Amino acid sequence: MLVKADQAGAVRGARFPGRYIQGAGTIARLGEEARGFGEKAIVLLDNGVFDLLKADIEASFANGPDIEIVRHGGECSEWAIANLAEAARIAGASVIVGAGGGKALDTAKAAARDAALPVIVFPTIAASDAPCSALAVVYNEDGTVAYDTFLPSNPDLVLVDTALIAKAPARFLAAGIGDALATWYEAESCRRSGAFNCMKMPGVPLAYEVARFCRDTVFEFGALALGECDAREAGPALERVVEANILLSGIGFESGGVATAHAVHHGLCELDDVHHHLHGEKVAIGVLAGLKLHGLEEDYERVRQFCLTVRLPTKLGDIGITEATPEKLAIVAKRACRSGEIIHNEPIKVTENMVVEALKALV
Ligand SMILES: [Zn+2]
Repeated sequence: MLVKADQAGAVRGARFPGRYIQGAGTIARLGEEARGFGEKAIVLLDNGVFDLLKADIEASFANGPDIEIVRHGGECSEWAIANLAEAARIAGASVIVGAGGGKALDTAKAAARDAALPVIVFPTIAASDAPCSALAVVYNEDGTVAYDTFLPSNPDLVLVDTALIAKAPARFLAAGIGDALATWYEAESCRRSGAFNCMKMPGVPLAYEVARFCRDTVFEFGALALGECDAREAGPALERVVEANILLSGIGFESGGVATAHAVHHGLCELDDVHHHLHGEKVAIGVLAGLKLHGLEEDYERVRQFCLTVRLPTKLGDIGITEATPEKLAIVAKRACRSGEIIHNEPIKVTENMVVEALKALV
């Protein structure tokens, strides 16, 4: 990602999920959509929503295809991935369905690759832009991150039930807004520097336009959507924000590229303080740090005000770093700026000291 493309003659690209369907009550379409891939589906259902959704999923498959529901243990580990791929082989499955939060979805995506099967992703929260992506985060059994695994293709279908997302805690939706907020700022940095996207090439112009649309959508509808989520209602604003959090942000980050916000996120994750905070909450802090780093005070203030309206953190203390010691800030900056890291996709040279100064402004 660090090789800067020759702007003029560059080979450019973008990637997308095969299909994307969103609406209230789409859980009822799951069986019908799975049937398009063959006669047997294996469904990996998140532990957290297993009892809540099992009967509705079975009902959705009442007219076929055959279905086997497997309970996801909670981790996307090599063991969980191999286990699901093996279960799919034994069942003679024609498609794998992942239903639930990010780790269940990632397990299903990676197992589908290993079993050479198509995958349907059915997210039940909109807390990050992972569902549409060809990326899975693999964890060790103790819960620490092992590595990112890049999949050869994006999910064949992403089916989103906004009625379910509206009933999930609003904090998840807010975190998804934080992840979506980062998309344009990072893609714009990559566009300006000519840095590579997740396909190891610069994005086509559409990628940056999708990222811009993502940003404009969360700015316009973010606060309203959270109000609808509080009322457990899949209203018009929530529909727009779910599209931004899952589809627009997904395309925007994979095809546009990533930079400071996620690099700072990776740095923050070095501190135990932040472990009870969601990905998108830490990414929002990364966006604010990035704007400070560039000296964009007006944009910083605009985004800070926005974060306050959508319940996102604006200070290090908000994500658990109540004592921002020089040692802690140095650890964050070192990880964020390590060689080959995505922070170097920025159009300016970023140093550890610049990151420390930016973070100090968020104390
Ligand atoms: Zn993210």
